[in-house]
Amino acid sequence: MRCPVCGGDCIRDAPAVLESLSSVFSKCEECRFRILDKNAPLRGRFYATPCACNRRFIDEVFAHIYVIFLDEGILSGDEPLRAVGSPLIHPGFFMTSPPFLSPDSLVLLSPIVTEEAAKRIVVEVPEVKGVVKCGDYVPGVTDLSLSSPYRTYQLLAGCDVRAGVFSTRAGPLVIYTQQSVMHIEFPRLRNPKIQSVERHLGTRHPTWCVDACSGAGTLGLCAARHGVLGVIMSDAWYAAAYWSAVNLHVNRMFFKIDEIVFHSTYDAMQEHMVRRDPVRIADAGGDQSILVYQGDYRELWRVLPSEPVCAVLDIFHKSDKDETDRILQEWQSRVPGEVFIP
Ligand SMILES: [Zn+2]
Ligand SMILES: [Zn+2]
Repeated sequence: MRCPVCGGDCIRDAPAVLESLSSVFSKCEECRFRILDKNAPLRGRFYATPCACNRRFIDEVFAHIYVIFLDEGILSGDEPLRAVGSPLIHPGFFMTSPPFLSPDSLVLLSPIVTEEAAKRIVVEVPEVKGVVKCGDYVPGVTDLSLSSPYRTYQLLAGCDVRAGVFSTRAGPLVIYTQQSVMHIEFPRLRNPKIQSVERHLGTRHPTWCVDACSGAGTLGLCAARHGVLGVIMSDAWYAAAYWSAVNLHVNRMFFKIDEIVFHSTYDAMQEHMVRRDPVRIADAGGDQSILVYQGDYRELWRVLPSEPVCAVLDIFHKSDKDETDRILQEWQSRVPGEVFIP
């Protein structure tokens, strides 16, 4: 599948990604490394170049980026190494030690990077596949009422599409996201939301599972991975709905489905970044049915099956009890079955 952001081969099927994990960030016998203090400035303007195996320890990659920031006048040399930004590893998975990065395996998220520096970084630092200028907010739609305007980060150079590997009790899922426009979820050893969904599946055995604020589709695809016969994923935000459909495709070999039909394209979806009325983006039939919509969760009842469903509402602001009670009651007044917040 061609990457809609860069036209390259960023998106690979889940088995290829999973097979690569055991060695993708391992050091070879020749790999050398220094562990640098992230809370201190870089001493000197030195960084090591990649090993003959094409890998380089993450701290050296950060030192390289730091030197470019010094050259570009973004840093003075007094700032700690961590001031360059946050590394998002591609593919991201739960690691017990810091990685030896291979080419195109890091998206840099930085609040201070300039466009000139970003362009230099993707050319001069082989490990970096994309540079995103970020802010102190969550990109995409975080307001369930859809009344406040959405915000995004800015992709300054390269491509910001990357994969994360999420474990479920039925096996792993490979989930692609586009970091400038989507909420970041880090793969962890235990994922409480996935565990919450699995508990409900284990006790209720639903025929239909609905992931009504799907993000990149992790929880809906987790239900599909567990063999739930009907799965519906939906999100009001174009990027979330689009990447849910991509992630259905990437993980399709884990489901009992025939061909996946896409009803929209990335470019077409960018014309309607937020939708209220649900529009079908992709579907697949077979022994399992899996459907992806873009739309407001409050309007999703219009397209749901008439039988009871097990619905998961992965909303952003879960701490306001009155608000979440109201949301759950509103859902239950329209949709038969069970609803929960993971
Ligand atoms: Zn790409
Ligand atoms: Zn090496």
